[in-house]
Amino acid sequence: MALIKRVTFKLNEVFYQKPFHITNSVRSSSKVIAIALELDNGIIGRGEASPSFRVNGEIETVLMGFETPISEMLRNREVQRYRPLFDTLDKFSRSAPSLKAGVQYAILDAFSTLISTPVYEILGGAKEYVETDFTISIDSLENTVQDAKKASEKGFKILKLKVGEDLPSDIARVLAVQEALPSMHFVVDANMGYTPKQAVTFAEAMVSNGVKMDLFEQPVWSDDFDGLRFVRQHSGIPICADESAKTRFDALRLIREECVDYINIKLMKSGISDALAIVELARSAHVGLMIGCMSESGVGIAQSVHFACGTGAFTHHDLDSPFLLKETTPYKYRTEGCRLLPIG
Ligand code: MN
Repeated sequence: MALIKRVTFKLNEVFYQKPFHITNSVRSSSKVIAIALELDNGIIGRGEASPSFRVNGEIETVLMGFETPISEMLRNREVQRYRPLFDTLDKFSRSAPSLKAGVQYAILDAFSTLISTPVYEILGGAKEYVETDFTISIDSLENTVQDAKKASEKGFKILKLKVGEDLPSDIARVLAVQEALPSMHFVVDANMGYTPKQAVTFAEAMVSNGVKMDLFEQPVWSDDFDGLRFVRQHSGIPICADESAKTRFDALRLIREECVDYINIKLMKSGISDALAIVELARSAHVGLMIGCMSESGVGIAQSVHFACGTGAFTHHDLDSPFLLKETTPYKYRTEGCRLLPIG
């Protein structure tokens, strides 16, 4: 038996290699919270929160204030009985999902060290590695094509292109990349930037030009479930919810209302507990899954690598922040080209 002694937070800043531009947002750096969960036998479990105001309404300084209450809440509880700990955190942190993710992961990481079994095996051990796509944010046509060619040369087989600020130039950029790289597959993410009708116009342009577009991610505003369904019914391209799908209850509603073909699970939106629930909901409803990231650094990406390999639930992996940030120190994973491999 091992008891949790304390949980501590440390605020860090991570920097992008180039400014990351998506619909209504340009950023050159991001704040992450490093979480350390110490057991009474000296084992330390690590986790990371990458708070997002845009997606979750989170402010990092507010989240830092949760250090003492979370530490108090978990103190003297048995780390190996992690399910009741997850339930406690579900009820606590409705307003801080990224923190819930990082703390829940730190519990699993400490448990993993305690029983000498990697987290991805605790979660099911379905895969030995996953392959990530590479994201190209909103930029000029010339830069987009150049970045796409570079990513292709590095071995990335799927590119995630950001669109959503200007429909005609979005269409022109994707078609230019397709012309330069005819065998490339695409995930296109509008980050809520289109109206339903604009999204259908975009999709029609992709279909009529034979673009290999695997997924159309979050074409419309997150709360516009009817809009998502409209795009799904009129576009002929699989629709994937990201900003619309945070909790297990969002996923249930999206599935029940037939709004989506895919759900993009991000641990930072859902924590480990809701992410596990969404995996089972999606499997039951034959809805596909992708896993995404929100500028996590080394420990944060490890969380998603272990989750994705453990559950084996995803066809699309967008875990490219180690390739977009200036520096990341991998924690319990390694990269091999575009592959990410969990290690114990
Ligand atoms: Mn997205």
